[in-house]
Amino acid sequence: MSQLLSIMLHTPAHSGIGEALTYTSDTAIAAGSLVRVPFGKREVLGITWPSQQQLHSDDLKLRPITSVLDGIGCLSTHWMQMVEFAARYYQRSVGEVALAALPNQLRELSREQWERKLKRQAKVLPHEPSAVDLPELTHEQAHTLQQIQAERGPFMLFGNTGSGKTEVYLRAAQAALAHDPKAQILVMVPEINLTPQLEARFRERFAPLWGASCLVTMHSGLTPAQRMNHWLAAHTGVARIVLGTRMAVFASMPHLQLIVVDEEHDPSYKQQEGARYSARDLAIYRGHLEQAKVILGSATPSLESWHHSRPASDAEGAGRYMRLHMPSRIGDGVLPTVRRVDMNHQPRNTVFSEPLVQAMRERVQRGEQVLILLNRRGYSPVLHCRDCGWKSECPHCSAYRVFHKIDRSLRCHHCGFAQAVPRACPGCGNLDISPLGSGTEQLEEHLAELLGSLRRPDGQGVRIARIDADSTRLKGELDRQLAEVHAGEVDILVGTQMIAKGHDFRRVSLVAALNPDGALFSSDFRAPERLFSLLMQAAGRAGRDASMSLNAACEMWVQTFHPQHALFEALKQHDYPHFAAQQLQERREANLPPFSFQALVRADAKTQEAAQDFLNAARAASDALAVQLQVDVYPAVPLTIQRVANVERAQMLVECLSRKALQQFLSAWHAPLHQLRSQHKGVIRWAVDVDPLAI
Ligand code: ADP
Ligand code: ZN
Ligand code: ZN
Repeated sequence: MSQLLSIMLHTPAHSGIGEALTYTSDTAIAAGSLVRVPFGKREVLGITWPSQQQLHSDDLKLRPITSVLDGIGCLSTHWMQMVEFAARYYQRSVGEVALAALPNQLRELSREQWERKLKRQAKVLPHEPSAVDLPELTHEQAHTLQQIQAERGPFMLFGNTGSGKTEVYLRAAQAALAHDPKAQILVMVPEINLTPQLEARFRERFAPLWGASCLVTMHSGLTPAQRMNHWLAAHTGVARIVLGTRMAVFASMPHLQLIVVDEEHDPSYKQQEGARYSARDLAIYRGHLEQAKVILGSATPSLESWHHSRPASDAEGAGRYMRLHMPSRIGDGVLPTVRRVDMNHQPRNTVFSEPLVQAMRERVQRGEQVLILLNRRGYSPVLHCRDCGWKSECPHCSAYRVFHKIDRSLRCHHCGFAQAVPRACPGCGNLDISPLGSGTEQLEEHLAELLGSLRRPDGQGVRIARIDADSTRLKGELDRQLAEVHAGEVDILVGTQMIAKGHDFRRVSLVAALNPDGALFSSDFRAPERLFSLLMQAAGRAGRDASMSLNAACEMWVQTFHPQHALFEALKQHDYPHFAAQQLQERREANLPPFSFQALVRADAKTQEAAQDFLNAARAASDALAVQLQVDVYPAVPLTIQRVANVERAQMLVECLSRKALQQFLSAWHAPLHQLRSQHKGVIRWAVDVDPLAI
């Protein structure tokens, strides 16, 4: 007798199908199996899904599945639950999320190819463990580990760069692996290319104990074949440790017992297209489902995680996470002294202040390295007047309006209020008002002009290099450039946030941030948080080489027009908790996350008008529901970068004090949005971004 199966496929986005399709099979097949089925004229990969509803067999057109890819275990119920949660929460179809989480090659393999593949699949080889030297834990590390063993978590491990967090991850992983011969560990990092040392440390520690095949990586840099093999290794339990970027949160790991999210504040954990999930948030959910412990680690936690880990003494009571604090740096490493250069006292249009130029000269002459940090990401251009300090504030919001070059307008991304750019400063009449944080394009050349005649101790001329998205577009280029810096061939390195990540530049004794002010007065309320974390991280690059005896002289310089700003005060004290408290206070007063919840609906269209019309129509259609659920839906606005490749982009902000009400609103809104789309022909695509990181 023929069985009915509920099967998830990757159906086209917004096709309206979304949920599982019904197929037939001659034999019973367990939920979570991989199957190949006919779909239209094609044959595609699907996953048998536990079905909630009663399946009906009265439709005679039901088609049988083509084949089952067997020989390995099913995807676990927990895995399917996580996928379903992610799909619902981020407003996508379950099939899309489920199939996107599998390696591409799996979709392309025929049954025969699959069988061949399985035969070649690595088996756990008997491995003779050899000894590894473990450093003796510091008191802080030992205490932290004890708490991780004793409590359920999730844990927010708050510790400076160099406080020994990675050693804690390694020990927690080792304990779990040793305790249960099947246990698996998931370690997530923001960008693997930028943190090669972490992978090396995990390999070095665990390969001697459990063999080289015990660790696999998962990230977008793998070839399709590698991705397939690594996925299989994790799915079959051969790999005990998966180290990967955000996509790894969906790895099939049947015996998952510990999840580590390193640098949990990093925006790269948020997927920016397709299902716009937060891998960090899903890690928490997955840990909860699977009873796996979760450790989030950071020197500058996201304000969300910080707030969730508030202690019982907080006015709001204890948060859901447990905060673990490791304040000391290992060894004698001291954090660099922070110095602020007041740019109000520098000649107009100064890029490098005289004292900074002097300091750079001294370092290079002593054979030390300098990092020059440009802050270009994460904020939109806000106009300001250098004479009176006027900034393009929105009269209706606690936000700054953004400068749109294309039509020379100032627009609020919160409420949509727009005006033409004033010809002169509304505060003082000055004609010279300009976007904050501009004028850094020719920086590298400018520096070469300033320091061209400078010599290093070995008599050679100063070497200046730049690392950013442009200079590292070619494959392998970033590694090559970083290797030059490590080898000491570069004296001054100019770069964007890319250079602030986990690199170990041992001879850096001076880090300078040139233009951080843009982020202080950004239209994006998360910009100060990002800036603080970037500067703290960059400061952590200095003074890592204890043997150089430059620790005492290590400095971080900040050139700013706002030297008294609370953010720089907190930076000077290396005081994240103080900074966080002050930011959270502002967010609480303005009802911003984590005290409220947001979603963005974005539309791309041939014209800006078409995109906005569609969004505003959707807004009108949901009016009654919005009132009922106390959800605020703001009018559509153009994106800061409004036009990309001849496509006009607009967005609309949705806000609510209750996450549940927001979720309810969004699910109910899906159908009208979908329907309106067909009436608005100019619209190319639309998408919802839940918990967006930039508005
Ligand atoms: P984080 O991850 O917080 O930046 P790490 O774990 O990388 O810190 O530790 C910083 C440095 O100190 C590394 O070189 C590491 O090998 C070393 N280290 C960590 N823990 C110890 C320890 N208990 N004893 C000696 N050295 C340690
Ligand atoms: Zn002015
Ligand atoms: Zn406004």
